[in-house]
Amino acid sequence: MKAFDSTQLYFNRAADQIDLTENMRRLLLIPKREVQVQVAIERDNGEIATFVGYRVQHDDARGPMKGGLRYHPDVDMDEVRSLAALMTWKTAVVDLPYGGAKGGLAIDPAQFSTRELELITRRFVDGIHDVIGPDMDIPAPDMGTNAEVMAWFMNQYAKYHGYSPACVTGKPVEMHGLPGREEATGRGVGILTYKMLTRMGRKPAQTRVAIQGFGNVGSHTAKFLHEAGFRLVAVSDYSGGYYRPEGLDVPAVLRYALDHKGTLAGYTGAQQISNSELLGLDVDVLIPAALGGVITHANAESVRAKIIIEAANAPVYPDADDILAARGVMILPDILANAGGVTASYFEWVQNRQHYRWDINRVRQELEHVMTRAFERVWELSVERKVSLRTAAYIVGIGRVGQATVLGGIS
Ligand code: NAD
Repeated sequence: MKAFDSTQLYFNRAADQIDLTENMRRLLLIPKREVQVQVAIERDNGEIATFVGYRVQHDDARGPMKGGLRYHPDVDMDEVRSLAALMTWKTAVVDLPYGGAKGGLAIDPAQFSTRELELITRRFVDGIHDVIGPDMDIPAPDMGTNAEVMAWFMNQYAKYHGYSPACVTGKPVEMHGLPGREEATGRGVGILTYKMLTRMGRKPAQTRVAIQGFGNVGSHTAKFLHEAGFRLVAVSDYSGGYYRPEGLDVPAVLRYALDHKGTLAGYTGAQQISNSELLGLDVDVLIPAALGGVITHANAESVRAKIIIEAANAPVYPDADDILAARGVMILPDILANAGGVTASYFEWVQNRQHYRWDINRVRQELEHVMTRAFERVWELSVERKVSLRTAAYIVGIGRVGQATVLGGIS
């Protein structure tokens, strides 16, 4: 199944619940604009390398479009299109005044020098600067990109349009960024994991957790859950999984990653397992926080966790979703679980426009407020309508986008 088909399927399940008309479905599903540009650079060895850069702007009924920029070898137009649609429903679920977009390049950042990555980013901005901007479409970090990439992005955009820090979020704190933006997605995942388990009458100390992916989202989720008293028994990254049934020494794992350029390769404080073994561990909560499509019909039966928190985008495909639902596994969907990042991005954008700064305590407080409000709404709707949390989240998102579309006038 293609990534976009999967997002569409989840959309249609929720649309059926609210009897959305065919016309409205088409209107909400077809992206507003898709851009594909050539990105060419001279590599450090003198070779000319050429890539394709994508930006999909899905919907702007509720405000400027917002979505990350991904550097990963699997990036293609279908994936970007699917992630752009997810952003539309995500910004609506947490009720931010935004639409949805996404962009990316099919590159492995580890294969390029810092200078080459800077050139790639600048040439990408050259290709799309006319269709993005603080009131139109605001990129942010995603897999393979970070605050440094956002700083280059802002600087290149300014060459065309002048000083506009709000053209991109997730910037370094020293360069119009927001204290707390980097941790926000993982922190949001942690906050909602805690809320959900409390709702289910479970205690952190009796809850075993495994996290796939130890980048920005996975590592901050691990830190938050450890501090909240959960028993983290396994983590992983591209190098494989690290498992300690009695509980990992989380501060030591975090320190190891920090000292080894973000990777866990070579960590000896736990038993080494594969990424697929991690997904099948006997834990209470499984948190996929790396790639999409990691739980499919092929491995859904082997998942033993009773709760899945989708920290990554689209980690569970619909065929697996059905198998897991039939077994009573509760899934907190991506469009709610990982919305902390875009929420903090919204705070950064607001502050850039007001030329005003909050301190980290206020950022954390506001983040918790927005995430909790969204979670309570989705949880109540799922109980009321007897639907999954995913369908409830989509109903909230689609309802808000549909309402704005109708209020704005279609003809
Ligand atoms: P990142 O690049 O910082 O980290 C990705 C992690 O995944 C790394 O630890 C990497 O080693 C690991 N990984 C890569 N390939 C893997 C594989 N085959 N198996 C297991 N692990 C693998 O990315 P991130 O920003 O943490 O994003 C992770 C996920 O969260 C993505 O799906 C992204 O779309 C989603 N997300 C990120 C944000 C954000 O603010 N960064 C916001 C919302 C959603």
